[in-house]
Amino acid sequence: MEKRVYNFSAGPSMLPLEVLEQAQRELVCYPSAGMSVMEMSHRSKTFENILEKAKADLKELMHIPDNYKILFLQGGGSTQFAMIPMNLMNKNNKADYVITGQWAKKAAAEAERYGKVNIVASSADSTFDHIPTLDPSKFDPEADYFYITLNNTIYGTRWTELPDTGNVPLVGDMSSSILSQEIDITKFGLLYAGAQKNLGPAGVTVVIVREDLLGNAMDFTPTMLRYDIHAENNSLYNTPPTYGIYFMGLVFDWVKRQGGVAALQKINERKAAILYDFLDQSELFRGTVVKKDRSLMNAPFVLPTKELDEKFIKEAKAQGFENLKGHRTVGGMRASMYNAMPIEGVEKLVEFMKKFEMENK
Ligand SMILES: *Cc1c(COP(=O)(O)O)cnc(C)c1O
Repeated sequence: MEKRVYNFSAGPSMLPLEVLEQAQRELVCYPSAGMSVMEMSHRSKTFENILEKAKADLKELMHIPDNYKILFLQGGGSTQFAMIPMNLMNKNNKADYVITGQWAKKAAAEAERYGKVNIVASSADSTFDHIPTLDPSKFDPEADYFYITLNNTIYGTRWTELPDTGNVPLVGDMSSSILSQEIDITKFGLLYAGAQKNLGPAGVTVVIVREDLLGNAMDFTPTMLRYDIHAENNSLYNTPPTYGIYFMGLVFDWVKRQGGVAALQKINERKAAILYDFLDQSELFRGTVVKKDRSLMNAPFVLPTKELDEKFIKEAKAQGFENLKGHRTVGGMRASMYNAMPIEGVEKLVEFMKKFEMENK
């Protein structure tokens, strides 16, 4: 096998090697099936078992109660920006949004096409370097839901405390932090995540939705964009992303072998601490977000000049640290450390950063 690099990509991102190897072994012939999962009918018993096991494992890993439906959909995280208002903005035709980055901004802009969006708070003025403090008097008690992005992939912030929205259902985008830390799902009406950051290859979107929120989609909602249709059909209304669901199931098994979400959270906290502790004492590198809101998954940082940023990215790449270039709207660097990134990857990156600092001070 060719040498694998430490891939710090924000998404699609690193997957556990063990899982890739298992998928490779089973690629041509899924056990006892005589065919690849890619070639299998989505109505077959074998596939049904794959789907049911993936659902059961996610339910166990996230402690999802029985009154929630787990859906495996297509269209990426971005399709949820429209599906959420079409399906949930159905009583008073309005919703609260907190703008903590590009993804929240896009979600709010899409929702505006279907109803009234109330921006409760935004950290846009300071390039989204923190999670804004909320003033509950700005919450609309008649909002159909309250929307947040739990982990801001581009800017590297995360919510460490959830807003108390009373009877207004909380809706969360957890695309870049699902299964990376424990979360109380009962605080949410709906939680979703595209697969390509922590769960598997691009192509599946997981939606976890409380049953009582289903069934009141706007009249014009296309059938394929109705949660109730997918829930009634157990994500088999049409051909689902079968291979993606299978692969995600392998990742769920891997998470269980690591000791579950709580165990991964501890490792993720250690990985983040290794990098942030270094940034805090470095005289050359600097983290770009407010300390208390730092993400465990995505750590943006900068050097004093653009020239040094470029030099660092180039030299890092030559040493096998890939995809450290920051998002085009922020510049600098960003190290994404999803579940599949081993501690050793972060330790080696920090060693390299120390060496770079010595040589470039
Ligand atoms: C990546 C990402 C998205 C968009 O996902 P797509 O699958 O590319 O549509 C949305 N929200 C967050 C937080 C993300 O990290």
